Amino acid sequence: MHAADISPMRIAVLGAGGLGSAAARMLSQKRELRLDALVDSRGFAFDPDGLDAEAVLHAASERGGVAFAPKTGAPSDDPIGEIVRRAEAFDGVFLALPNLPNDFVPGVAARFAAGGYRGVMTDALKRTSAAERVLKLDELFKTAEIVYIVGCGATPGLLTAAANLAAQSFAEVESVRIWFGVGIQNWEAYRATIREDIAHMPGFDVESARRLTDEEVAELLDERGGKLILEEMEHADDAILEAAGVVSRDCVSVGGVVDTRSSQKPVSTSVVVTGVTFEGRRSSHTFTLGDETSMAANVCGPAFGYMKAGRRLHEIGAYGAHSSATVMPRFVR
Ligand code: NAD
Repeated sequence: MHAADISPMRIAVLGAGGLGSAAARMLSQKRELRLDALVDSRGFAFDPDGLDAEAVLHAASERGGVAFAPKTGAPSDDPIGEIVRRAEAFDGVFLALPNLPNDFVPGVAARFAAGGYRGVMTDALKRTSAAERVLKLDELFKTAEIVYIVGCGATPGLLTAAANLAAQSFAEVESVRIWFGVGIQNWEAYRATIREDIAHMPGFDVESARRLTDEEVAELLDERGGKLILEEMEHADDAILEAAGVVSRDCVSVGGVVDTRSSQKPVSTSVVVTGVTFEGRRSSHTFTLGDETSMAANVCGPAFGYMKAGRRLHEIGAYGAHSSATVMPRFVR
């Protein structure tokens, strides 16, 4: 069968912030996946024949929410519930939601399973403890006939997958080091991302970062010239690579530099995988992302590549919790 004969996957994107709106725009360039719903904290836009992403995002930025999208938008106190109630209208759900508190995304995943959704789910989760909570829902996903792929952004996601691929040259992997650079023009475009990054800094945790007012975040960034330097982050690349049998979590480290005042990356993003070959030779593979690629491109692209891979898994009945290191993403046209 030709790709053109296959109907597009009907996608709901939960979250319409920095990543959710980029995801919506990306889908408008695809024919294998179609944006049918976009959700923010105050409402949702839904069209079973496909949304006009630009019209929805324009209404959202002019009037303060996707609920204002002409014809397709509606306000709601429980917009995620509105999508769950329409579960049969979707083949794929991408969670571009803040994971604050730390069990929010796992809770949303469980809600879809309990609500009768039967399809694919991908997320852009970052924290190890949150990804582990999702992996523990394996049985629930199996019963519900959901294919859930956890950690499908950039890190974890693209870089975790690259680490898994690089590991194949080695008899034993000694270390995986991820060092990322993010350049964004202003932090307000990615509030949850920046808050969750602050939660990794000394003196902060998820709860204290969540409680920071926008003014306090702006002040903290001012004190640091707009830059956050993050080391030894609790990123789920470690648990995902361990669960996939590649390397023990203690050998995985993640850190990076986030500049909130320039769209240029402060450092290049790379993953270095060091190991010993079957002949006993120690070596390293390095995978470096092009500096021109944005965080949005490197998160949403893989999230939809895994979505397409998830469709195939769903077709063959491989329900349950998978990860970015156990599935190969499939290129979306
Ligand atoms: P954001 O703050 O810009 O947007 C969040 C969106 O979620 C907003 O539209 C908000 O209205 C909506 N929302 C919040 N609570 C909601 C609720 N209860 N119901 C419905 N909608 C709700 O966030 P962002 O910066 O786009 O980040 C999204 C997530 O992606 C974060 O968890 C972040 O950590 C993660 N992220 C992952 C990677 C990666 O590489 N894995 C990279 C960047 C960001």
